[in-house]
Amino acid sequence: MRLSRFFLPILKETPKEAEIVSHRLMLRAGMIRQQSAGIYSWLPLGHRVLRKIERIVEEEQARAGAIQLLMPTIQSADLWRESGRYDAYGKEMLRITDRHERDMLYGPTNEEMITDIFRAYVRSYKDLPLNLYHIQWKFRDEVRPRFGIMRGREFLMKDAYSFDLDQERAVEAYNRMFVAYLRTYKRMGLTAIPMRAETGPIGGDLSHEFIVLADTGESEVYCHADYLDKAIPGDDVDFDSDLSPIVADWTSHYAATEDVVDKGEFEASVPEDKRIVARGIEVGQTFYFGTKYSDPMGAKVATADGTEVPVHMGSYGIGVSRLLGAIIEASHDDDGIIWPASVAPFHVGLVNLKAGDELTDTACEDLYGKLERAGIEVLYDDTDARAGSKFATMDLIGLPYQVVGGPRGLKDGVFEVKNRATGEKEMLSPEATLNKLVAALTA
Ligand code: ATP
Ligand code: MG
Repeated sequence: MRLSRFFLPILKETPKEAEIVSHRLMLRAGMIRQQSAGIYSWLPLGHRVLRKIERIVEEEQARAGAIQLLMPTIQSADLWRESGRYDAYGKEMLRITDRHERDMLYGPTNEEMITDIFRAYVRSYKDLPLNLYHIQWKFRDEVRPRFGIMRGREFLMKDAYSFDLDQERAVEAYNRMFVAYLRTYKRMGLTAIPMRAETGPIGGDLSHEFIVLADTGESEVYCHADYLDKAIPGDDVDFDSDLSPIVADWTSHYAATEDVVDKGEFEASVPEDKRIVARGIEVGQTFYFGTKYSDPMGAKVATADGTEVPVHMGSYGIGVSRLLGAIIEASHDDDGIIWPASVAPFHVGLVNLKAGDELTDTACEDLYGKLERAGIEVLYDDTDARAGSKFATMDLIGLPYQVVGGPRGLKDGVFEVKNRATGEKEMLSPEATLNKLVAALTA
């Protein structure tokens, strides 16, 4: 992508309304624009990152056997009356009346709707296990939207729903999502710790919140330090096998949010030098809630002997849009964002220091074409802005590599290649630049 033809509205000033670094950087880097409280447009740079995060989530959901569909944002209140949540949900639910005076709502979550889909089609235990998910906008009329997209009113969530014959199998489904979550966050460069959690309005018996430690997080958390460098299940993990040993290992140390913490147990089970009391960002939550929805809504399956039983369910959310903020909170410096390559909006920023100079233009255009043909996503700054402003923009938007081509270096046949995370710089020939980036950025 040529910067001259891209839409990247960089802000020079630090926006006053932004209290935390991820919000500031997202505004400055032209990733989002607030349209009203807690409601954002995703500008092209932000949208590219959002799509990358979605793709990782989709790949890991598929690996764990979940099947993607898409449900609407607007739901009928009648469904929620069936489960009893229409009156119970509270003011976070945006209630809407259509022209026929029918009660509708903008979905804050989809347990009722997926249960309705399930009961319409599935009759037999032979169709289980089933896990259906979507990535869709949610609306919750948060009393205090803040921190940009971290606590929005409209936000993008991945929500999966598992259906199983009994509790034992439902826990197996839960374990598959649990392991998928560990892998999903890791692929985005995050360490997310599964913590015992309260079940809130979703309800249920078993639940974990996946928490990324950050000073700007909204929850206080208590956990064992060994979680910080615990190995994550690799690509070879078999989702058809018994995953309970992995889950048992990942829940063997103490980790709980402030809502459910038992400080006595925390102190008794975690040695003093391993105790972490910190703030954290909730990037996902998993629930097993048995027949809480299937019972009142009549979602039943026939067992092998022909009796009908309500299906056992779980639900599994990931805050897709919140993850952008969490990743930036975890990975930035004074100059801007430092994207992990897996979610970076582009892999490489190619800076032409003297647009219009024949030697520089030719070398940059040639490298740009070769990188793109190698499958590397390049943002090519072909504008005539000042060098200082070009460098500042590149540092701000945080692409993993910057390649700078100027008349001085190119006279000697070299580009300057900078690693954004380490700051390390090398002078490399065009061919060596290409080889290095291909090796570093393509699998
Ligand atoms: P919170 O406690 O932060 O209000 P929640 O527990 O109500 O979140 P869940 O129902 O568990 O949220 O939703 C699944 C995920 O969606 C959360 O783990 C979080 O990452 C994300 N999420 C929830 N509310 C918001 C919001 N207002 N803005 C952005 N992301 C959100
Ligand atoms: Mg939650």
